[in-house]
Amino acid sequence: MSTQSQNVTSDDGVVKEASMLKQKAMIADNYEKLTSAPETGAKVAATYVPGNLNELIMCFDMLNNLPEINAIQNGMRKKSGAMITDAEKMGHSEDVCTYVKADIGNMAKGSIAPNGKPLPVPDLLLLSYTGCFTFMKWFELLRDQYGCRTTMLHVPYAADGNTTQNMRDYVVKQLKEDVIPALEEVSGVKFDIDRLREHLRHSAAAEDDVVWVLESGKNLPSPIDAYFGGVYYIGPIFTAFRGTEAAVDYYRLLRGEIEDRIAKELGPVTPDGEPVEEKYRLVVEGPPNWTSFRDFWKMFSDEGAVVVASTYTKVGGVYDYDGFRHDPNNPLESLADYCLGCYTNRNLPTRVDMIEKYMDDFQADGFLVNSIKSCNSFSAGQLMMMREIETRTGKPAAFIETDLVDPRYFSPANVKNRLESYFQMIEQKRRGGGPAKAA
Ligand code: SF4
Repeated sequence: MSTQSQNVTSDDGVVKEASMLKQKAMIADNYEKLTSAPETGAKVAATYVPGNLNELIMCFDMLNNLPEINAIQNGMRKKSGAMITDAEKMGHSEDVCTYVKADIGNMAKGSIAPNGKPLPVPDLLLLSYTGCFTFMKWFELLRDQYGCRTTMLHVPYAADGNTTQNMRDYVVKQLKEDVIPALEEVSGVKFDIDRLREHLRHSAAAEDDVVWVLESGKNLPSPIDAYFGGVYYIGPIFTAFRGTEAAVDYYRLLRGEIEDRIAKELGPVTPDGEPVEEKYRLVVEGPPNWTSFRDFWKMFSDEGAVVVASTYTKVGGVYDYDGFRHDPNNPLESLADYCLGCYTNRNLPTRVDMIEKYMDDFQADGFLVNSIKSCNSFSAGQLMMMREIETRTGKPAAFIETDLVDPRYFSPANVKNRLESYFQMIEQKRRGGGPAKAA
């Protein structure tokens, strides 16, 4: 790759790499397209990140609006707290996933996008159900609110860790008989399988580079942070860009920047744009906290803790573990395989095997769980996972608790204390002194 790293100072004075700025521009452009849909006449499908059928949606000239991404954007802009309290006043319980409450609270005030303009009412709620029950309840609420057409793709849960031909056939049948006819009807565009093949070609090219990027964490030192930096890296492919040339270009640019860092033996960039001097290599399970994202990241980078692999960067598609790629020669079947293989659709023993492999392959010093108070889908079984990883690898593990976009559940002093004692435990373990006990 010939692309060279080029750091740029953005409007907020933070040093950002060219790929981060490119990604920001791509996402802003997508919000402009979404919010101008009433004028342009573009049709909009609302769908979730895990199991999203972006390539298929684009075959019908439709735009893709992802409610979790809207909640994350509002979380990072510190607007989600008020939205969540509004939703609670409307009767939604404290335990409900805070992405849902941020979305419902935002909807009550006109569904304002990050560009300050209202998001359009979706023309289709396209629920691709991949393992989280909340997805279903969330769209029931949206259907009540919008009264728009709803289609569900039921993806069977990989309960015993395997997917079968029957499961694949079942998903393909629904794509042919339910999902594609719904998209044709709503958009007025006839399905063209060659158009889908073309998008899938772009997906596979970008997926190769995504895997290369995520696996670069195996270098010593790691040139990437696969959690805090990782959420930027997965942004385009997990959202409205999988299957586009723009995503292929983005990952080529990113790969060039990382190659440059490897050649210079630099660690990942910190929130301040400086390279981290790697002291601890971690594997992290669970989504990050978004409302204090920068402070949370600094608690790691200030201590020289680098996340070399994370499960969260697999939530919108698992491409490294068993080598899945979208396949233009088997278009509908590969969409089915993608949905079946989503991280949230995999059982706990498979997730533990994945984490154990990351611990070994990335030469990690420890395993950290960031348990999300309101995400049952991720949090269930995390203590078992932690004990299992400790037993299998002999490496120290730790458990912290935060939330997605509810600022009330991010306690900086507690998290910092826990992390600091965990890093000390890793030090002790290295010197052969301490037992691998959870913090
Ligand atoms: S419960 Fe977790 S997996 Fe389910 S929608 Fe909320 S954040 Fe996503």
